[in-house]
Amino acid sequence: MSDCVFCKIVSKEIPASIVYEDDVALAFKDLEPQAPVHVLIVPKKHIKSLTDTTPEDKETISHIMVDVIPELAKEFKIVDNGFRTVINTGVEGGQTVAHLHFHLIGGRSMQWPPG
Ligand code: AMP
Ligand code: ZN
Repeated sequence: MSDCVFCKIVSKEIPASIVYEDDVALAFKDLEPQAPVHVLIVPKKHIKSLTDTTPEDKETISHIMVDVIPELAKEFKIVDNGFRTVINTGVEGGQTVAHLHFHLIGGRSMQWPPG
């Protein structure tokens, strides 16, 4: 999608600190990290939000959750102490970029409930 910042990162039109890439997913460091480790994982396909997925997206979404996020958590050494994975959806969910993304946040103690 031409006006989507994450699509532009996927197509390398704008720079990002990329930490993982495969055929269907890309991960890069958040521009405004909320913790020592803050990585965003996105499907390369433009999907607006979790509620805009289709059955054909199932494989990619589960790949991100089952393969990519645990692998990145190991790479950033946050498995032992634990970490948080967040998907914000819509205005009240706090979603500011309309391209589905998973936050991988770790390296400090988290609070609950989130703000
Ligand atoms: P959300 O509020 O869940 O939509 O999260 C959007 C996230 O994208 C925020 O944590 C932003 O800091 C991050 N972000 C926005 N633009 C960029 C960018 N160009 N590169 C990396 N992270 C970004
Ligand atoms: Zn997009």
